[in-house]
Amino acid sequence: MMDKRSGKGLSFVKRIYLPRIIGMGIGLFSVMAAVAPLSPPMWAWLLLLFNGLFWPHAAYLWAIRSATPYQAEQRNLLLDSLMGGFWTATMQFNPLPSVTVLSMMTMNNVAAGGKRLLVRGVLAQLAGMLLATLVFGPGLQLNATPLQVYACLPMLTLYPLALGWVCYQLAIKLAEHKRRLSALSLTDSLTGLLNHGAWKDLLQVRFQTCQQQQQHAVIALIDIDHFKTINDTFGHVVGDCVLRQMSEELKRNLRDVDQAGRYGGDEFCVILPDTHEAQACQAMERLRERVANYRNPQLPHLRISLSIGLSAFHADLESPEHWLEQADKALYTAKHAGRDQVNFAQSEAAGLRLAYPD
Ligand code: GH3
Ligand code: MG
Repeated sequence: MMDKRSGKGLSFVKRIYLPRIIGMGIGLFSVMAAVAPLSPPMWAWLLLLFNGLFWPHAAYLWAIRSATPYQAEQRNLLLDSLMGGFWTATMQFNPLPSVTVLSMMTMNNVAAGGKRLLVRGVLAQLAGMLLATLVFGPGLQLNATPLQVYACLPMLTLYPLALGWVCYQLAIKLAEHKRRLSALSLTDSLTGLLNHGAWKDLLQVRFQTCQQQQQHAVIALIDIDHFKTINDTFGHVVGDCVLRQMSEELKRNLRDVDQAGRYGGDEFCVILPDTHEAQACQAMERLRERVANYRNPQLPHLRISLSIGLSAFHADLESPEHWLEQADKALYTAKHAGRDQVNFAQSEAAGLRLAYPD
């Protein structure tokens, strides 16, 4: 069963768990070394131990059990800051441990919640300082002993390492998501072929290559005959299967360099680079025959035939759209000439030559 709260910040809570264990665990040393000479009461020691060792687990459980884990985690981060401020005032602002605790916490807040959490975190730190000043009275301790300096080193070295690692993992995950999303945005979900937009982009590129480098290329528009009848007779599920089968057949019959897409509905489109008219005709005729001979034992009455319009690149074409229009006209002619056939577009120049032979 899917967790009802997924998407509400569970992964955020999980991502913060380990850095908090590490941060609080080693931050404990710097605070302990700084407050020890000030002889705080027993309850303050217990609170410090709780904050350093048990709070990360309590915070985690509190947040993941909440109905809104994201908000709960934001609250926990503010409590972190409140306690951080409390301990800096308790250690009477001993410079190195204070700066260590406050800056590491601030780095964490910026990484977790940007400007908003930064500002709120600073306010929570100030509130914590005020609270400790009210409880213990004001004080200033500006001399750090060597032990207090050393006690800060683990925090200053290990915590940035842990946080950097978490950010790196997140960046890797984001890059992977981006790659998958962009692949998805180019793909037709039913057939796995290129979608309309992606194929048209490739057509544009191919058109320019042909124009600039005088290369040959042929485009094909392939339409399933009476597909509406197939849907009406056998149902849309079978219709979808036919479309998928058709895309498989396309992939099987084409070369790796050929670029096949789903133009829309029951219409497919292919770019055949470096191809002459005769080669393209042969390839499409083979495809047409294979599909016409397709039989499904479960649906013995199912027949699929294709009408295919082809158009070769020639220098008179004005734009990719013009090229496509030629293929579309060829397809239209194939349909009107009885379907189940391949038809090549007559280029205007060739048409003229036919009408007025030399
Ligand atoms: P023609 O021989 O002239 O091409 O006739 P046709 O029936 O194939 O042409 P038409 O364009 O009238 O019908 C295409 C049909 O394709 C209509 C639409 O319901 C169906 N169709 C479009 N997309 C899908 C799809 O994703 N799945 C299914 N099952 N049917 C679809
Ligand atoms: Mg059709």
